[in-house]
Amino acid sequence: MEMDGADPNGVPGEVDRKRWTYLDRILNRPGPFTDEEWVPGEPNIESLERMKILVIGAGGLGCEILKNLALSGFKDIHVIDMDTIDVSNLNRQFLFRQADVGRPKAEVAAQFVEKRVRGVKITPFCGKIQDKDEDYYMQFGMVICGLDSIEARRWINATLVGMVDNDDADTLKPLIDGGTEGFKGQARVILPTMTSCIECQLDMHAPRAAVPLCTLATIPRQPQHCIEWAHIIAWEEERKDDTLDTDDPEHITWLYQKALARANEFNIPGVTYSMTQGVVKNIIPAIASTNAIVAAACCNEAFKIVTSTNPPLGFPGTNNYMMYTGDDSVYTYTFEHSKKDDCPVCGNLAKNLEVDPNMTLEEFIASLAEKPEAQLKKPTLRTEEKSLYYQSPPSLEEQTRPNLKKKFSELVSDGEQLAVSDPAFQIVFKFKLVFKK
Ligand SMILES: [Zn+2]
Repeated sequence: MEMDGADPNGVPGEVDRKRWTYLDRILNRPGPFTDEEWVPGEPNIESLERMKILVIGAGGLGCEILKNLALSGFKDIHVIDMDTIDVSNLNRQFLFRQADVGRPKAEVAAQFVEKRVRGVKITPFCGKIQDKDEDYYMQFGMVICGLDSIEARRWINATLVGMVDNDDADTLKPLIDGGTEGFKGQARVILPTMTSCIECQLDMHAPRAAVPLCTLATIPRQPQHCIEWAHIIAWEEERKDDTLDTDDPEHITWLYQKALARANEFNIPGVTYSMTQGVVKNIIPAIASTNAIVAAACCNEAFKIVTSTNPPLGFPGTNNYMMYTGDDSVYTYTFEHSKKDDCPVCGNLAKNLEVDPNMTLEEFIASLAEKPEAQLKKPTLRTEEKSLYYQSPPSLEEQTRPNLKKKFSELVSDGEQLAVSDPAFQIVFKFKLVFKK
């Protein structure tokens, strides 16, 4: 399946088929993992070529996914991406060249792969996933996400779960999701409504645990701890009157030198200027090979689901989640993430939520933004009885605004159900309020 297997003279037919020799071996012969009923040959090649597959994202993961799918025998690929190409993408988003800077990623990626792999059709859409409706998503057999945004993942997940009609198997679209962060990544398969969904798994994306202040102040163990110490403690003690500007080289240099001195004191190697910059600005480097690993895992799952040559991730009761960690040597772990009965998207139970009855509604709304399982920024809240707070329209906002200053105990009773919605998601979160005693 090498990239350069295409015949330069453009003679179609047998010569062209040579590129697919190894793929054909998998498709034309039963293997140790194929069922007894599995029919080798034509039916598999046909289902692969007919499968209409949607790729969301044409960035670091997306470029890899598009290339892999095309070279795995998929012929009808669609891709959505809202971004244009930036010069900083060129080191890893290998379908783009200098001359493409400023052009839409989806379009350039589609053209590049179509040109290199004869017979594959890639249909780009340059825009947001939210621009498309259920009819659009219904046409696909499968969706692969290579996204860096949790919000977009939650949106497509809720959309696909909402599309499932139990009487029509074609409405269930397997969702394969890849994600990377530096040297870490994951690949997972979701069968909407049948298995744990992205919303069920949201706690896997919880904001990274902060290092306790006492560790920073007393016993740093890592170079990053020394940088955080300089950032949080030393700056506050010594330069309280200056506002830290992370784009000011003098400020970063100062933090770097402070961190380095502290690291030396504790015999911790590894503090550098660029690490200081990274920690302080909270930059996670994008690593091309992590993208390659995760994209490959996702595309293999897609191939296995379509061809039934091997068991894929994701069947109910089996493993559905593969995590990959490459930052401390190499470690992978594959497990079953279970569906949650109180998942706001695919579950049907209200989730118990303990609240302090003396908390104001405004404080509660602020706390929702921080909860890893919600991360709601502009929520609207109502109970079965009344509207507590509406973000829009303006008339309702004004009408419900006085409630913000009121305490929970004045607004609701212990055990009452609360529905929370947010314009960013097509989800209504149901909570059962439990007053803290
Ligand atoms: Zn769920």
